[in-house]
Amino acid sequence: MPVICRTGCGKKAVLKRPKTGDALCKECFYRAFETEIHYTITKGNLFKRGDSVAIGASGGKDSTVLAYVLKLLNQQYDYGLNLMLLSIDEGITGYRDDSLETVKQNRDDYEMQLKILSYKDLYGWTMDEIVAQIGRKNNCTFCGVFRRQALDRGAAMLNVKCIATGHNADDIAETVLMNVLRGDIARLKRCTAISTGSEGTIPRVKPLKYTYEKEIVMYAHYKKLIYFSTECVFAPNAYRGHARALLKDMEKIRPSCIMDIIYSGETMAVKEEVSLPTLRNCVRCKFVSSQEICKACVLLEGLNKGLPKLGIGKSSKAKRMLAEYNSKQQTLLENGKQELDNNIAINNCSSNSKSCNSGLYSNENIELKESVGNKSKCCSGKCNNLNNKENVTSSKKINSLLKQYRINEKVLNSNHTSSNDNNEVDLLLTGQEGSCSETCGKISSLHLGF
Ligand code: SF4
Ligand code: ZN
Repeated sequence: MPVICRTGCGKKAVLKRPKTGDALCKECFYRAFETEIHYTITKGNLFKRGDSVAIGASGGKDSTVLAYVLKLLNQQYDYGLNLMLLSIDEGITGYRDDSLETVKQNRDDYEMQLKILSYKDLYGWTMDEIVAQIGRKNNCTFCGVFRRQALDRGAAMLNVKCIATGHNADDIAETVLMNVLRGDIARLKRCTAISTGSEGTIPRVKPLKYTYEKEIVMYAHYKKLIYFSTECVFAPNAYRGHARALLKDMEKIRPSCIMDIIYSGETMAVKEEVSLPTLRNCVRCKFVSSQEICKACVLLEGLNKGLPKLGIGKSSKAKRMLAEYNSKQQTLLENGKQELDNNIAINNCSSNSKSCNSGLYSNENIELKESVGNKSKCCSGKCNNLNNKENVTSSKKINSLLKQYRINEKVLNSNHTSSNDNNEVDLLLTGQEGSCSETCGKISSLHLGF
Protein backbone atom coordinates (compact mmCIF):
# COMPACT_ATOMS: atom_id res chain seq x y z
CA MET A 1 0.00 0.00 0.00
CA PRO A 2 1.44 3.41 -0.98
CA VAL A 3 2.43 5.73 1.86
CA ILE A 4 0.50 9.02 1.78
CA CYS A 5 2.18 12.37 2.42
CA ARG A 6 2.18 13.14 6.12
CA THR A 7 0.86 16.70 5.62
CA GLY A 8 -2.51 15.39 4.51
CA CYS A 9 -2.23 16.82 1.00
CA GLY A 10 -3.40 13.44 -0.27
CA LYS A 11 -0.43 12.83 -2.55
CA LYS A 12 1.84 9.82 -2.48
CA ALA A 13 4.91 10.22 -0.30
CA VAL A 14 8.17 9.86 -2.23
CA LEU A 15 10.72 10.47 0.49
CA LYS A 16 11.36 10.28 4.20
CA ARG A 17 12.68 13.56 5.58
CA PRO A 18 16.05 12.85 7.20
CA LYS A 19 15.56 15.59 9.76
CA THR A 20 12.11 14.59 11.06
CA GLY A 21 11.45 11.13 9.64
CA ASP A 22 8.21 12.41 8.01
CA ALA A 23 7.03 10.74 4.81
CA LEU A 24 6.39 13.55 2.30
CA CYS A 25 5.52 14.14 -1.31
CA LYS A 26 7.96 16.23 -3.35
CA GLU A 27 5.97 19.47 -3.19
CA CYS A 28 5.46 19.28 0.56
CA PHE A 29 9.18 18.55 1.02
CA TYR A 30 10.09 21.62 -1.04
CA ARG A 31 7.70 23.76 0.98
CA ALA A 32 9.00 22.49 4.31
CA PHE A 33 12.62 22.90 3.21
CA GLU A 34 12.18 26.44 1.87
CA THR A 35 9.91 27.59 4.72
CA GLU A 36 12.47 26.50 7.31
CA ILE A 37 15.18 28.53 5.58
CA HIS A 38 12.85 31.52 5.38
CA TYR A 39 12.13 31.14 9.08
CA THR A 40 15.88 30.97 9.86
CA ILE A 41 16.45 34.16 7.85
CA THR A 42 13.64 36.15 9.43
CA LYS A 43 14.18 34.93 13.00
CA GLY A 44 17.89 35.67 12.77
CA ASN A 45 17.35 39.07 11.07
CA LEU A 46 19.99 38.08 8.56
CA PHE A 47 19.16 40.67 5.91
CA LYS A 48 17.69 44.13 5.64
CA ARG A 49 15.63 45.33 2.75
CA GLY A 50 17.84 46.84 0.02
CA ASP A 51 20.97 44.93 1.13
CA SER A 52 23.47 43.74 -1.43
CA VAL A 53 24.41 40.18 -0.51
CA ALA A 54 27.36 38.16 -1.82
CA ILE A 55 26.70 34.42 -1.86
CA GLY A 56 29.93 32.50 -1.32
CA ALA A 57 29.72 30.17 -4.33
CA SER A 58 31.89 27.10 -4.76
CA GLY A 59 29.79 25.26 -7.31
CA GLY A 60 29.04 22.56 -4.71
CA LYS A 61 25.60 21.46 -3.55
CA ASP A 62 25.36 23.78 -0.55
CA SER A 63 26.14 27.05 -2.29
CA THR A 64 24.14 26.06 -5.36
CA VAL A 65 21.06 25.29 -3.25
CA LEU A 66 21.66 28.47 -1.23
CA ALA A 67 21.78 30.62 -4.38
CA TYR A 68 18.68 28.93 -5.78
CA VAL A 69 16.63 29.18 -2.57
CA LEU A 70 17.70 32.75 -1.79
CA LYS A 71 16.66 33.84 -5.25
CA LEU A 72 13.34 32.05 -4.80
CA LEU A 73 12.64 33.45 -1.31
CA ASN A 74 13.76 36.92 -2.37
CA GLN A 75 11.01 36.85 -4.98
CA GLN A 76 8.40 34.99 -2.93
CA TYR A 77 8.71 37.08 0.22
CA ASP A 78 9.93 40.26 -1.44
CA TYR A 79 13.11 40.59 0.66
CA GLY A 80 14.34 43.34 -1.68
CA LEU A 81 17.89 41.92 -1.82
CA ASN A 82 20.47 42.41 -4.53
CA LEU A 83 22.06 38.95 -4.74
CA MET A 84 25.43 38.21 -6.35
CA LEU A 85 27.91 35.36 -6.44
CA LEU A 86 31.44 35.49 -5.04
CA SER A 87 33.88 32.66 -5.78
CA ILE A 88 37.39 31.96 -4.64
CA ASP A 89 39.76 30.11 -6.94
CA GLU A 90 42.24 28.35 -4.67
CA GLY A 91 44.20 27.02 -7.63
CA ILE A 92 43.52 23.31 -7.12
CA THR A 93 43.86 21.49 -10.42
CA GLY A 94 41.19 18.91 -11.09
CA TYR A 95 38.88 20.39 -8.48
CA ARG A 96 38.40 24.12 -8.40
CA ASP A 97 38.98 24.67 -12.10
CA ASP A 98 36.09 22.32 -12.85
CA SER A 99 33.80 23.54 -10.08
CA LEU A 100 34.19 27.14 -11.27
CA GLU A 101 32.59 26.09 -14.52
CA THR A 102 29.53 25.08 -12.46
CA VAL A 103 29.55 28.47 -10.74
CA LYS A 104 29.52 30.15 -14.14
CA GLN A 105 26.53 28.00 -15.01
CA ASN A 106 24.82 29.14 -11.78
CA ARG A 107 25.58 32.73 -12.74
CA ASP A 108 23.78 32.27 -16.05
CA ASP A 109 20.90 30.21 -14.61
CA TYR A 110 20.19 32.51 -11.69
CA GLU A 111 21.09 35.72 -13.51
CA MET A 112 23.44 36.96 -10.82
CA GLN A 113 26.65 38.93 -11.10
CA LEU A 114 29.75 36.77 -10.42
CA LYS A 115 33.12 37.82 -9.01
CA ILE A 116 36.02 35.34 -8.92
CA LEU A 117 39.18 36.01 -6.90
CA SER A 118 42.18 33.72 -7.04
CA TYR A 119 44.80 32.90 -4.40
CA LYS A 120 47.42 33.35 -7.11
CA ASP A 121 46.39 36.96 -7.68
CA LEU A 122 45.86 37.74 -4.01
CA TYR A 123 48.78 35.92 -2.44
CA GLY A 124 51.06 34.90 -5.28
CA TRP A 125 50.55 31.19 -4.52
CA THR A 126 48.09 28.56 -5.71
CA MET A 127 47.08 25.72 -3.40
CA ASP A 128 48.86 23.33 -5.76
CA GLU A 129 52.09 25.28 -5.16
CA ILE A 130 51.47 25.49 -1.42
CA VAL A 131 50.90 21.74 -1.15
CA ALA A 132 54.14 21.20 -3.09
CA GLN A 133 55.88 23.16 -0.29
CA ILE A 134 53.99 22.10 2.81
CA GLY A 135 52.89 18.57 1.90
CA ARG A 136 49.42 17.23 2.51
CA LYS A 137 49.20 17.54 6.24
CA ASN A 138 48.49 21.20 6.96
CA ASN A 139 47.21 22.25 3.56
CA CYS A 140 43.69 22.98 4.83
CA THR A 141 45.07 25.42 7.41
CA PHE A 142 46.52 27.55 4.62
CA CYS A 143 43.47 27.11 2.44
CA GLY A 144 40.95 27.96 5.17
CA VAL A 145 42.84 31.01 6.42
CA PHE A 146 43.39 32.37 2.92
CA ARG A 147 39.80 31.70 1.87
CA ARG A 148 38.38 33.53 4.85
CA GLN A 149 40.38 36.60 4.02
CA ALA A 150 39.82 36.28 0.26
CA LEU A 151 36.06 36.30 0.84
CA ASP A 152 36.42 39.49 2.89
CA ARG A 153 38.45 41.08 0.13
CA GLY A 154 35.94 40.06 -2.53
CA ALA A 155 33.00 41.31 -0.48
CA ALA A 156 34.74 44.66 0.00
CA MET A 157 35.28 44.89 -3.76
CA LEU A 158 31.62 44.12 -4.41
CA ASN A 159 30.61 46.62 -1.74
CA VAL A 160 28.07 44.23 -0.22
CA LYS A 161 26.42 44.41 3.22
CA CYS A 162 27.05 40.77 4.04
CA ILE A 163 28.30 37.41 2.78
CA ALA A 164 25.90 34.45 2.85
CA THR A 165 27.71 31.13 3.10
CA GLY A 166 26.38 27.63 2.47
CA HIS A 167 27.35 26.19 5.87
CA ASN A 168 24.73 23.61 6.73
CA ALA A 169 23.68 21.99 10.02
CA ASP A 170 26.12 19.09 9.55
CA ASP A 171 29.03 21.50 9.00
CA ILE A 172 28.19 23.38 12.18
CA ALA A 173 27.74 20.23 14.25
CA GLU A 174 31.10 18.96 12.94
CA THR A 175 32.74 22.24 13.91
CA VAL A 176 31.28 22.05 17.41
CA LEU A 177 32.65 18.51 17.74
CA MET A 178 36.07 19.53 16.41
CA ASN A 179 36.32 22.47 18.79
CA VAL A 180 35.32 20.29 21.73
CA LEU A 181 37.91 17.68 20.72
CA ARG A 182 40.58 20.37 20.42
CA GLY A 183 39.48 22.25 23.53
CA ASP A 184 39.23 25.38 21.41
CA ILE A 185 36.80 27.33 23.57
CA ALA A 186 37.10 30.61 21.70
CA ARG A 187 36.04 29.00 18.44
CA LEU A 188 33.45 26.85 20.16
CA LYS A 189 31.71 29.98 21.35
CA ARG A 190 31.73 31.58 17.92
CA CYS A 191 31.10 28.63 15.63
CA THR A 192 27.37 28.30 16.25
CA ALA A 193 26.62 31.99 15.69
CA ILE A 194 24.31 32.45 12.73
CA SER A 195 25.86 35.81 11.97
CA THR A 196 29.53 36.58 12.61
CA GLY A 197 31.65 39.64 12.13
CA SER A 198 32.95 42.34 14.40
CA GLU A 199 32.72 46.07 13.95
CA GLY A 200 34.34 47.23 10.75
CA THR A 201 34.11 43.84 9.05
CA ILE A 202 31.56 42.51 6.61
CA PRO A 203 29.30 40.05 8.47
CA ARG A 204 28.89 36.42 7.39
CA VAL A 205 25.48 34.83 7.67
CA LYS A 206 24.46 31.18 7.46
CA PRO A 207 20.89 30.78 6.17
CA LEU A 208 21.35 26.98 5.99
CA LYS A 209 22.43 26.71 9.61
CA TYR A 210 19.58 24.36 10.52
CA THR A 211 19.36 22.56 7.16
CA TYR A 212 20.52 18.96 7.08
CA GLU A 213 23.08 18.03 4.45
CA LYS A 214 21.03 15.02 3.34
CA GLU A 215 18.05 17.26 2.68
CA ILE A 216 20.18 19.66 0.65
CA VAL A 217 21.25 16.72 -1.52
CA MET A 218 17.63 15.58 -1.88
CA TYR A 219 16.42 19.08 -2.73
CA ALA A 220 19.14 19.56 -5.36
CA HIS A 221 18.36 16.12 -6.77
CA TYR A 222 14.60 16.56 -7.07
CA LYS A 223 14.95 20.12 -8.35
CA LYS A 224 17.57 18.92 -10.85
CA LEU A 225 19.99 21.66 -9.86
CA ILE A 226 23.42 21.57 -11.48
CA TYR A 227 26.21 21.32 -8.96
CA PHE A 228 29.73 19.96 -8.71
CA SER A 229 30.13 16.95 -6.45
CA THR A 230 33.79 15.94 -6.66
CA GLU A 231 35.68 16.23 -3.40
CA CYS A 232 38.78 18.39 -3.16
CA VAL A 233 41.86 16.38 -4.16
CA PHE A 234 43.59 17.53 -0.97
CA ALA A 235 40.67 16.71 1.34
CA PRO A 236 41.39 13.19 2.65
CA ASN A 237 43.89 14.34 5.25
CA ALA A 238 41.70 17.08 6.69
CA TYR A 239 41.12 16.72 10.42
CA ARG A 240 37.51 17.69 9.82
CA GLY A 241 37.04 14.40 7.97
CA HIS A 242 37.33 12.48 11.26
CA ALA A 243 34.72 14.66 12.97
CA ARG A 244 32.49 14.20 9.92
CA ALA A 245 32.81 10.40 10.03
CA LEU A 246 31.97 10.40 13.74
CA LEU A 247 28.92 12.59 13.17
CA LYS A 248 27.63 10.44 10.30
CA ASP A 249 27.91 7.33 12.48
CA MET A 250 25.98 9.01 15.27
CA GLU A 251 23.35 10.33 12.84
CA LYS A 252 22.58 6.78 11.71
CA ILE A 253 21.64 5.87 15.25
CA ARG A 254 19.94 9.11 16.17
CA PRO A 255 19.24 11.66 13.36
CA SER A 256 18.39 14.44 15.78
CA CYS A 257 21.97 14.40 17.12
CA ILE A 258 22.93 17.06 14.54
CA MET A 259 20.43 19.55 15.94
CA ASP A 260 21.28 18.47 19.48
CA ILE A 261 24.99 19.15 18.99
CA ILE A 262 24.24 22.59 17.54
CA TYR A 263 21.94 23.30 20.46
CA SER A 264 24.65 22.20 22.90
CA GLY A 265 27.16 24.49 21.19
CA GLU A 266 24.73 27.41 21.29
CA THR A 267 23.88 27.08 24.93
CA MET A 268 27.18 25.97 26.37
CA ALA A 269 28.37 28.56 28.86
CA VAL A 270 32.01 29.61 28.85
CA LYS A 271 33.57 30.29 32.24
CA GLU A 272 34.33 33.92 32.84
CA GLU A 273 38.00 33.28 33.48
CA VAL A 274 38.47 31.79 30.00
CA SER A 275 40.02 34.63 28.11
CA LEU A 276 38.72 35.11 24.61
CA PRO A 277 40.76 36.85 21.92
CA THR A 278 39.94 40.45 21.18
CA LEU A 279 39.70 41.30 17.52
CA ARG A 280 41.65 44.11 15.87
CA ASN A 281 43.13 44.85 12.49
CA CYS A 282 46.26 43.17 11.20
CA VAL A 283 49.07 45.73 11.05
CA ARG A 284 50.13 44.35 7.68
CA CYS A 285 47.02 43.75 5.59
CA LYS A 286 44.49 45.65 7.74
CA PHE A 287 42.03 42.75 7.79
CA VAL A 288 40.51 41.55 11.02
CA SER A 289 42.77 39.51 13.28
CA SER A 290 43.11 38.34 16.86
CA GLN A 291 46.86 39.00 16.70
CA GLU A 292 48.97 41.99 15.76
CA ILE A 293 49.71 40.19 12.49
CA CYS A 294 46.97 38.01 11.07
CA LYS A 295 47.37 34.32 10.41
CA ALA A 296 47.17 34.83 6.63
CA CYS A 297 50.13 37.23 6.73
CA VAL A 298 52.16 34.89 8.95
CA LEU A 299 51.46 31.88 6.70
CA LEU A 300 52.29 33.89 3.60
CA GLU A 301 55.51 35.19 5.13
CA GLY A 302 56.51 31.61 5.90
CA LEU A 303 55.87 30.57 2.30
CA ASN A 304 57.79 33.51 0.88
CA LYS A 305 60.74 32.90 3.20
CA GLY A 306 60.93 29.21 2.39
CA LEU A 307 59.65 28.40 5.92
CA PRO A 308 56.21 27.01 5.06
CA LYS A 309 55.65 25.67 8.59
CA LEU A 310 56.15 29.08 10.18
CA GLY A 311 52.47 29.66 10.93
CA ILE A 312 51.67 26.07 11.86
CA GLY A 313 51.62 25.05 15.48
CA LYS A 314 52.75 26.96 18.52
CA SER A 315 54.02 30.51 18.28
CA SER A 316 57.12 29.58 20.34
CA LYS A 317 58.13 27.19 17.56
CA ALA A 318 57.57 29.91 14.96
CA LYS A 319 59.69 32.33 17.00
CA ARG A 320 62.53 29.80 17.12
CA MET A 321 62.31 29.15 13.38
CA LEU A 322 62.34 32.83 12.66
CA ALA A 323 65.33 33.48 14.94
CA GLU A 324 67.32 30.74 13.14
CA TYR A 325 66.28 32.12 9.78
CA ASN A 326 67.24 35.68 10.72
CA SER A 327 70.62 34.65 12.04
CA LYS A 328 71.37 32.73 8.80
CA GLN A 329 70.27 35.73 6.77
CA GLN A 330 72.44 38.04 8.86
CA THR A 331 75.53 35.90 8.27
CA LEU A 332 74.74 35.72 4.58
CA LEU A 333 74.33 39.45 4.35
CA GLU A 334 77.50 40.21 6.26
CA ASN A 335 79.50 37.88 4.03
CA GLY A 336 77.92 39.42 0.97
CA LYS A 337 78.61 42.92 2.14
CA GLN A 338 82.23 42.14 2.90
CA GLU A 339 82.78 40.48 -0.45
CA LEU A 340 81.09 43.33 -2.20
CA ASP A 341 83.14 46.01 -0.40
CA ASN A 342 86.35 44.27 -1.43
CA ASN A 343 85.31 44.03 -5.02
CA ILE A 344 84.06 47.60 -5.27
CA ALA A 345 87.33 48.93 -3.95
CA ILE A 346 89.38 46.76 -6.27
CA ASN A 347 87.18 47.53 -9.23
CA ASN A 348 87.42 51.27 -8.75
CA CYS A 349 91.14 51.28 -8.41
CA SER A 350 92.02 48.75 -11.04
CA SER A 351 89.86 50.37 -13.68
CA ASN A 352 91.10 53.85 -12.91
CA SER A 353 94.61 53.19 -11.76
CA LYS A 354 96.19 55.85 -13.98
CA SER A 355 94.63 58.60 -11.99
CA CYS A 356 94.67 56.96 -8.65
CA ASN A 357 96.23 59.32 -6.13
CA SER A 358 96.81 56.79 -3.46
CA GLY A 359 100.14 55.80 -4.88
CA LEU A 360 99.46 52.30 -3.82
CA TYR A 361 98.81 50.98 -7.29
CA SER A 362 99.90 51.33 -10.81
CA ASN A 363 98.98 49.55 -14.02
CA GLU A 364 101.67 46.96 -13.41
CA ASN A 365 100.15 46.07 -10.05
CA ILE A 366 96.65 45.38 -11.27
CA GLU A 367 97.10 41.65 -11.41
CA LEU A 368 98.53 41.64 -7.94
CA LYS A 369 95.62 43.66 -6.59
CA GLU A 370 93.01 41.39 -8.05
CA SER A 371 94.68 38.24 -6.89
CA VAL A 372 95.16 39.59 -3.38
CA GLY A 373 91.67 41.06 -3.21
CA ASN A 374 92.58 42.70 0.05
CA LYS A 375 90.84 45.93 0.95
CA SER A 376 93.78 47.16 3.04
CA LYS A 377 96.02 47.00 -0.03
CA CYS A 378 93.57 49.08 -2.04
CA CYS A 379 93.03 52.84 -1.90
CA SER A 380 89.51 51.95 -0.72
CA GLY A 381 87.64 54.48 -2.72
CA LYS A 382 90.00 57.43 -2.22
CA CYS A 383 91.13 57.56 -5.82
CA ASN A 384 90.01 60.42 -8.07
CA ASN A 385 87.53 58.49 -10.14
CA LEU A 386 85.62 57.06 -7.26
CA ASN A 387 82.48 58.96 -8.20
CA ASN A 388 82.33 57.42 -11.61
CA LYS A 389 79.18 55.31 -11.34
CA GLU A 390 79.65 53.71 -14.71
CA ASN A 391 82.84 52.15 -13.52
CA VAL A 392 81.11 50.78 -10.46
CA THR A 393 78.44 49.01 -12.44
CA SER A 394 80.66 47.88 -15.26
CA SER A 395 82.39 45.25 -13.23
CA LYS A 396 81.09 41.81 -14.12
CA LYS A 397 82.04 40.47 -10.76
CA ILE A 398 80.12 43.19 -8.92
CA ASN A 399 77.12 42.69 -11.11
CA SER A 400 77.12 39.01 -10.37
CA LEU A 401 77.37 39.77 -6.66
CA LEU A 402 74.54 42.25 -6.91
CA LYS A 403 72.50 39.55 -8.51
CA GLN A 404 73.55 36.90 -6.06
CA TYR A 405 72.66 38.98 -3.03
CA ARG A 406 69.83 40.81 -4.75
CA ILE A 407 71.21 44.16 -3.72
CA ASN A 408 69.70 47.27 -5.17
CA GLU A 409 72.25 48.94 -7.43
CA LYS A 410 70.93 52.45 -6.91
CA VAL A 411 71.42 52.15 -3.21
CA LEU A 412 74.88 50.78 -3.73
CA ASN A 413 75.91 53.63 -6.02
CA SER A 414 74.41 56.34 -3.91
CA ASN A 415 76.11 54.99 -0.84
CA HIS A 416 79.44 54.70 -2.52
CA THR A 417 79.37 58.13 -4.15
CA SER A 418 78.48 59.72 -0.86
CA SER A 419 81.79 58.40 0.43
CA ASN A 420 80.07 57.11 3.49
CA ASP A 421 82.82 56.02 5.87
CA ASN A 422 80.82 53.04 7.00
CA ASN A 423 80.19 52.17 3.40
CA GLU A 424 76.78 50.96 4.46
CA VAL A 425 75.01 49.09 1.70
CA ASP A 426 71.29 48.59 2.07
CA LEU A 427 70.53 45.01 1.48
CA LEU A 428 67.10 44.58 0.02
CA LEU A 429 66.78 40.88 0.26
CA THR A 430 63.20 40.90 1.34
CA GLY A 431 61.78 44.12 0.00
CA GLN A 432 60.62 47.06 2.05
CA GLU A 433 58.50 47.12 5.12
CA GLY A 434 55.05 48.43 4.42
CA SER A 435 54.91 47.61 0.74
CA CYS A 436 51.94 45.31 1.27
CA SER A 437 48.80 46.54 -0.36
CA GLU A 438 45.29 45.35 0.41
CA THR A 439 44.53 44.76 -3.21
CA CYS A 440 47.59 42.84 -4.29
CA GLY A 441 47.78 40.92 -1.06
CA LYS A 442 51.48 40.36 -1.49
CA ILE A 443 53.68 41.12 1.41
CA SER A 444 57.38 41.46 1.72
CA SER A 445 59.35 41.45 4.93
CA LEU A 446 57.68 41.68 8.27
CA HIS A 447 58.62 41.46 11.87
CA LEU A 448 56.45 38.91 13.54
CA GLY A 449 54.98 39.91 16.85
CA PHE A 450 53.64 36.92 18.62
FE1 SF4 B 1 41.04 23.77 0.73
FE2 SF4 B 1 41.31 21.66 2.35
FE3 SF4 B 1 38.91 22.39 1.46
FE4 SF4 B 1 40.66 21.34 -0.22
S1 SF4 B 1 39.75 20.31 1.56
S2 SF4 B 1 39.38 23.15 -0.59
S3 SF4 B 1 42.59 22.16 0.56
S4 SF4 B 1 40.24 23.57 2.83
ZN1 ZN C 1 47.36 40.36 7.66
